[in-house]
Amino acid sequence: MPSSDGFVVKMYSCQHCSYSTARMDNMRTHQVKHTGEKPYACSICHKRFAYKSSLNQHQITHAFKKKSAR
Ligand SMILES: [Zn+2]
Ligand SMILES: [Zn+2]
Repeated sequence: MPSSDGFVVKMYSCQHCSYSTARMDNMRTHQVKHTGEKPYACSICHKRFAYKSSLNQHQITHAFKKKSAR
């Protein structure tokens, strides 16, 4: 629903449910609920994650492993 002052915020609407957000990132994360896809891949071991926060957490473990490698 566009506001009366003519300013339209770009919204991303989910095609599977009534969810909508102005942020592409949020929409991508939300779509995972429907598709089961994991858009975030680790650049080191290529393991895939549904959430950016999960990927960040995972990549921290790489940082620690590097130190103790032998
Ligand atoms: Zn949805
Ligand atoms: Zn990894």
